Amino acid sequence: MPIPWPKRIRDTGQLTVFNDAGVWADSVDAAMKTFNSLPFSVQLVAEEKETSANIVVLLANGPQTYTHEGTTAQTGAKFKFDELHGQTSLFQSSRRNEMLFAVTFLPGKVPNPTHGQKEVIIVHEFIHASGGMGNDEHDSIGIFVGYMQTADGGMIEYLHDEGAQPMPPIRVGPRTLTKMQTVWPGVQRPMHHSARGTIRVA
Ligand SMILES: [Zn+2]
Repeated sequence: MPIPWPKRIRDTGQLTVFNDAGVWADSVDAAMKTFNSLPFSVQLVAEEKETSANIVVLLANGPQTYTHEGTTAQTGAKFKFDELHGQTSLFQSSRRNEMLFAVTFLPGKVPNPTHGQKEVIIVHEFIHASGGMGNDEHDSIGIFVGYMQTADGGMIEYLHDEGAQPMPPIRVGPRTLTKMQTVWPGVQRPMHHSARGTIRVA
């Protein structure tokens, strides 16, 4: 099950991101904008102070560790520094089923990745981080599938439907949308009253 961020954070509708992604930093900024345009009830905002960030994004050129408040994450044995993928480590509170922090490692040795490829990889990792979702939550379609391949300067599901187009533009699978809605249900919009009755604004 996805791990929600604490209520005090959910109530803001925002997660803060410290971008320390080196030569991928511009793509991280762009991917934040793309993520914010997706139909999720959470927005990513830049955080200048590393220790205050909910999510830290790093470029890994080799095996790397990251320590947050005494807990250390590291790039896994399967993490290849020259392949188009990422790794997000979720820091979870031991007493409550809640997210505390997330760190995303991006591959620093991919030869000549396109902006579109980097954007796809980063948005995918932002869904892991913001949704508190591990690899067992991957979708069968869209940006949050477990396996993708390069196509026409972008990325496409490794197993894709006939006629599916490479991303970007980012496609979000319905299962991913549903899971994001469970952890970020969003602000209840007010009821609007009209002369005829009550209309819910969607
Ligand atoms: Zn993934």
